[in-house]
Amino acid sequence: MEFQADIINRRLQDWENWVFRRHKGIPNNKRLFVLACMDERLPVEQALGLEPGDAHIFRNAGGLVTDDVIRSAALTVGLFGTREIIIVNHTECGMLGATGEQVTRRLEEKFGLDLTQVPLDPALPELRLPREALYRWWKTQTDIDRAALEQVELLRNHPLIPKDVHITAYVYEVETGRLRKPGEIYATRTSQAFYR
Ligand SMILES: [Zn+2]
Repeated sequence: MEFQADIINRRLQDWENWVFRRHKGIPNNKRLFVLACMDERLPVEQALGLEPGDAHIFRNAGGLVTDDVIRSAALTVGLFGTREIIIVNHTECGMLGATGEQVTRRLEEKFGLDLTQVPLDPALPELRLPREALYRWWKTQTDIDRAALEQVELLRNHPLIPKDVHITAYVYEVETGRLRKPGEIYATRTSQAFYR
């Protein structure tokens, strides 16, 4: 028979491993890094079937590859044992439709600022962009399925992401509450192939 203290000690050991994961080189449960949009209609963990502890999750406007995505992904695949990256973009995203120039001008009006003069990273005041690059910095999109595939390529081709990291993108449909592979839109399919 097992003593209760043995059970408690095992739990304490599990907890110590949880707390000191990074010291001990223990990866997250699924060895997974997720890049997803910050949108509140996108339930990332639920959509991907993830529990607490399963993944490193990075969310930003659009779920798009930025310098901080590279920074975070490089650390997790390079140092923290992660082997897989999943990108989740979604329909009706706020990053769709407007151009980078429109976003820039709207914010310049709103804040009464010239954004080319604003440090984009307050801890890195050297980081400023000329106007044309600033427009591209917002990374606005016109087609979310194409954007999803482009994010895969951006990561796949980056020198800080090793070639053996498994990278996949999905589009979450806000209107149906389901994931799809980029470009696989059920509602646009016809049954033509069946009749051939
Ligand atoms: Zn979004």
